[in-house]
Amino acid sequence: MSARLLDGTAVAAQIRAEVGPRVAAFAARARRPPGLGIVLVGDNPASETYIAGKVKAAAGVGLRIDLERLPATASLAQLLGIVERLNGSDVYDGILVQSPLPEAMGAGAERRVFDVIHPAKDVDGFHPINVGRLMQNRATLIACTPSGIMELLERSQIAIAGTRAVVIGRSDIVGKPTAILLLHRHATVTMCHSRTPDLPAIAREADLLVAAIGRPAFVTPAFIKGGATVVDVGITRLTDRAQVERIVGAGSKRLQDFERRGSVVIGDVHPSVAEVAGALTPVPGGVGPLTVAMLLKNTVTAAEERFKARGR
Ligand code: NAP
Repeated sequence: MSARLLDGTAVAAQIRAEVGPRVAAFAARARRPPGLGIVLVGDNPASETYIAGKVKAAAGVGLRIDLERLPATASLAQLLGIVERLNGSDVYDGILVQSPLPEAMGAGAERRVFDVIHPAKDVDGFHPINVGRLMQNRATLIACTPSGIMELLERSQIAIAGTRAVVIGRSDIVGKPTAILLLHRHATVTMCHSRTPDLPAIAREADLLVAAIGRPAFVTPAFIKGGATVVDVGITRLTDRAQVERIVGAGSKRLQDFERRGSVVIGDVHPSVAEVAGALTPVPGGVGPLTVAMLLKNTVTAAEERFKARGR
């Protein structure tokens, strides 16, 4: 392996260490801790794991965090009712409705929910007002994974200004905001997606390549300019031993992990990319921990901004 690994766990710990004193200072001024209200609908096991991580991290920095659960059979109206109640409560500075919502809620349910969360409490940064502010480079609440990627790059002293950046994936929650943040930091940005012809050739132009696709080990050395920085956002849990062995190789530590647990999380970037890239975010331990850390940071920022807006 030649690539330098960008340690998301360490950077996330730095961010949490900075958030802690801000939480304490806010609590001293406001006589209450910043509050985060989370709503979980249904019993998706991956969502349960993510929520457990968020609850633990939030408690660790002194945030108040309350989880409301709805059964998978709940209606969209019930969910919107909870969001409206959290919007109106003075205890909660941030509101997070965990994705994905049950399919039975209907196709546009997530967008409806994101539209109803008050922009000042929108710690996921998904509300159209916050997305618009991001476009104009004046956002205070920015989607956690893209802003976490910027923190990881900047705190790892990876140059962004003047580089050629390629982002594969154009989702509203990762690909698009990541591309905009790179643009604001003066990269020359190309966005790619499933209809992009000759993707490897475009990716090979990148000094900085971000893969946010959701296809395990999709990005191979054929996509990489030697020495490039590669950010692997993908998280796919694989349970097929043959597939895992094909990707991680027989006798590898990752395969041993798989043997122990019966599954393993694989990113969008093939492990062999480490032989050609200059720097690489590992999966796990790269972008993932930053997403949670940025949620904590957004919550305390939302609390401070709401407090300021009241002239206190
Ligand atoms: P998404 O909404 O499914 O978007 C995937 C994007 O990848 C789409 O823009 C799609 O193109 C593109 N794509 C799919 N197949 C492609 C192909 N063969 N060639 C080129 N582009 C292709 O996914 P997402 O929410 O952005 O998430 C992406 C990955 O990041 C997932 O694995 C997710 O679990 C992970 N994730 C990780 C974190 C974290 O904290 N680390 C946070 C969020 C998401 P089209 O638009 O043309 O369909």
